[in-house]
Amino acid sequence: MTQKNMPSMLPHIQALETYEGVDPMEVMAERAGIPPEKIIRLNGNENPYGPSPKVAAALGDYQNYNYYPDPGQRNLRRVLSGYLGVEQEHIVAGNGSDEMIDLLLRMYVGIGDNVIIPSPTFGMYSFSAGICGGEAISVERGENFEIDLEAMKSAINNKSKIIFLTSPNNPTGNIVPEAQTRAMLDTGLLVVMDEAYFEFCGETAIPLLSEYPNLVVLRTFSKWAGLAGLRIGVGAMDPDLAATMMAMKPPYNVNLAAEVALTTSLEDTPGLLERVKQIVTERDRMMDQLKQVPNLTPWPSQANFILCQVPDGRGKEIFEGLCSRGIFLRYWSSGRLKNFIRTSIGLPHETDAVVEALRELCA
Ligand SMILES: *Cc1c(COP(=O)(O)O)cnc(C)c1O
Repeated sequence: MTQKNMPSMLPHIQALETYEGVDPMEVMAERAGIPPEKIIRLNGNENPYGPSPKVAAALGDYQNYNYYPDPGQRNLRRVLSGYLGVEQEHIVAGNGSDEMIDLLLRMYVGIGDNVIIPSPTFGMYSFSAGICGGEAISVERGENFEIDLEAMKSAINNKSKIIFLTSPNNPTGNIVPEAQTRAMLDTGLLVVMDEAYFEFCGETAIPLLSEYPNLVVLRTFSKWAGLAGLRIGVGAMDPDLAATMMAMKPPYNVNLAAEVALTTSLEDTPGLLERVKQIVTERDRMMDQLKQVPNLTPWPSQANFILCQVPDGRGKEIFEGLCSRGIFLRYWSSGRLKNFIRTSIGLPHETDAVVEALRELCA
């Protein structure tokens, strides 16, 4: 269809490559020709145990869904203050930490600006920078996926605004040592430390907030608390920055179901952390098993997933072999990770099925 006089779309939006999220279970099942309940879904780093069992009841009992949520996030910021160990005025909650990333970029990055990211890492930083008309400058990580500090510093130019760090990093599983975080903070750029997998490793940059007004720490309830489908993430930052973000965010960005689920999850933190412990134990067991698969190299991980290197040129074939068995892992068709596959940590029987399939496919 054509419409006369219709304005042309912004070129940087037209040029955008979409972010490939994970497909729903039914779509995966149909693709593999397998019933949905038989699918092994380990491509999104989701929590195999689901939300706290108290969440469903709390969502059902809540009476006020006909009202808008509080644009000031008063209750949310109060309960999150306990979780993060910082005062409320440092806190903003978002529709997933994806929204926090988007808001930060919209605050700092316009057409022609750039952000610096150690690559490979999470895809949302460059995707969301692109929506702002900005560019992501990818700085290749070293041999063991460690951040190359000197290369990061040399990549900075007068259009650079934000450095994105991820600890543990997705998909490589390694953390950012504090000395490296400090070195990046000392550049003076805004440093966004994405701690989506904090609960699986226990290391955090939160204590640095009192020293560095240019630090933002992001957390999410998607992974450790099993709330990926309800979309709730959070940022801790300098109070002035938080106040501006509160003023520019969509007023009702966190819906009431997410708020009820978050509050209930925090009341059940010990139960949820018990499951996190089970996932970490399972990760270590899976690591031991993967190490014994011939032609496969699992990389050490401090998160709820393991990145595995497969023989050169065989990534696609192995990925497709897994799919046809109803096992869905994360695969990258190009770039440095094209000989890698990432598996989330699932239930013990899922570990066994993945290891068994990889043993056959990598032979
Ligand atoms: C999964 C993930 C997120 C997404 O979090 P949401 O709160 O679900 O938007 C953010 N950062 C990293 C590094 C992730 O792996």
